[in-house]
Amino acid sequence: MKRVLFACLTLCIIQCSAFAQTRKTAYSLVVKNATIVDVAGNKTIPHRLIAISGDTIKAVDDDKMLAKYKAARYLDAHGKYVMPGLWDMHVHFRGGNAMIADNKALLPLFLAYGVTTVRECGGDMTPAILSWRRDIGQGLLDGPHIYTSGPKLDGPKPTWAGSLEVQTPEQISKALDSLQRIPSDFVKIYDSKISREAYLEIIAQAHKRGLKTTGHMPFTTKLTDGAALGLNGSEHLYYVFKACSAQEDSITDAIIKSQDTPRPIGLFAALPALYSTYSDAKAAGLFKYLARQNFTITPTLYISKTLGEIKETDHSRDSLLAYISPQIQATYQGRVSSAKRASDESTQFTKKFEAKCAAMVPQMYKAGINIIAGSDCGAYNSFVYPGESIHGEIKQLVASGLSPAEALTTATINGSKFMGVSNFYGSLQPGRCADMIVLDDNPLRDINAIDRVDIVIANKKVYTRADLAALLKTVKH
Ligand SMILES: [Zn+2]
Repeated sequence: MKRVLFACLTLCIIQCSAFAQTRKTAYSLVVKNATIVDVAGNKTIPHRLIAISGDTIKAVDDDKMLAKYKAARYLDAHGKYVMPGLWDMHVHFRGGNAMIADNKALLPLFLAYGVTTVRECGGDMTPAILSWRRDIGQGLLDGPHIYTSGPKLDGPKPTWAGSLEVQTPEQISKALDSLQRIPSDFVKIYDSKISREAYLEIIAQAHKRGLKTTGHMPFTTKLTDGAALGLNGSEHLYYVFKACSAQEDSITDAIIKSQDTPRPIGLFAALPALYSTYSDAKAAGLFKYLARQNFTITPTLYISKTLGEIKETDHSRDSLLAYISPQIQATYQGRVSSAKRASDESTQFTKKFEAKCAAMVPQMYKAGINIIAGSDCGAYNSFVYPGESIHGEIKQLVASGLSPAEALTTATINGSKFMGVSNFYGSLQPGRCADMIVLDDNPLRDINAIDRVDIVIANKKVYTRADLAALLKTVKH
């Protein structure tokens, strides 16, 4: 009897351990023969396999160990380069209720270009965005993971529909309550004409609540005043550029004094004076200070370039227009018209100004500021197409002087730092999110390789090139 019991026990132990072994190695997906792109290390690691369960990387191992990794599905990445999915940290979904479906149809475009996460920086369809986010998370909808600010906070008569209008501390408190109820992932401040006081009050109150703040800034204030109160980031380069002027104080005073006159000085009117007083020494000191504050800057170089060249560019044959609804295409006309109205002199100045802005990027990066890639794609932002435009931004960042590895850092690592989730993204290591893209070529050698996306893995789904083409077909107009 004892012997039988012993035999049974032994059998059970063998079976249990065999069962445990099978369970242990039953992954949902193994990507084999991969050359991993280590963005932070600026190197590639050949002959790797990546074992994935659900949405998490469980193991990364030598290809020789493949027999150990049983999986429901294998992908052969022979000759390909595998890296984390791209993050576009400045996108918009907007245009009102009539355009909710048109915006939703843009989601697959992001995936087709390897964008697995976007940060939505304010619009007028927050409830819809939240429902897409839920559906994407549950695998019911194809699209990137979405972070959203919810509505923008702005002053009286806001430019953008859906913005929350605030002037007093009480209104600001109420607006922040409403954002926290959503809950929004960060606070986006806009400057249609927000007062200096309201702007700084938003930052102070949001900081007390532990909410991140970024956005535009009224020129009646200084970036360092915001940063001292806990401002976390700045969108576009106008605001940091202003702070690089050797005469920032006197120019700011003149702007403040002009506000109650018939001709208040606005952002664009102030740029020539700021340009001619730009100081390398002031810039160097500012960048060091912002780096110490863990400050984030989204340069959005590509949209500036696209809009700057709108006058002389024929976009009528852009292949991506096929994926943009006629309603959204109609919103592109505003920027086209205003570019046509601009004098040659101002167009020339804008180009000069943008070149100087771009030159700040490598300096800010080297100083340690958290530079993040953002395209500003969305309705009203003419010919800045979802997905493709973040490739454009990454290439502009390289053109500004960043190395391919640095530019990819802004698009795969730094966004997760802003969102406070950098432990889960940015590299292909056990424990990290399995959002990844497979490229035909090495992007560290030639940044244009990001255009050749072969496979996208996002939200527990594998999208081959054929899958992506089929997805795009469904949204073609
Ligand atoms: Zn924007």
